[in-house]
Amino acid sequence: MISVILGGEILRRLLFFLFLLKQFGHCPKAREGPALGCNYCWNTTDSNGRILRRKTKYHCPECQANLCIVPCFQQYHEALERDETKAAAEGPAAAGGGGGGGGGGGSSSGSAHNR
Ligand SMILES: [Zn+2]
Ligand SMILES: [Zn+2]
Repeated sequence: MISVILGGEILRRLLFFLFLLKQFGHCPKAREGPALGCNYCWNTTDSNGRILRRKTKYHCPECQANLCIVPCFQQYHEALERDETKAAAEGPAAAGGGGGGGGGGGSSSGSAHNR
């Protein structure tokens, strides 16, 4: 949806950054040069079974990881936190919260998304 672009967007982004800083102590930074494959979602499959090949110019200097600003930056660090507390987490491949998937899938092979 393209209805929420101006105005609130900048403010929301700022608040989002602050939220990230507070929660994780890591701040996303834009970098010069070409966009690079996201370390978190690259080559994972979304709910429609499509392989994700998203590129981003944002990265986390602390983790030295290229990450889509939304939603991967947050999810990556949440996964890190979970990893630290649990230390037994399997790959966070699923758990992608794409906005409103098209649905209409018949037989899904495996990949149960649990929360
Ligand atoms: Zn980080
Ligand atoms: Zn990503």
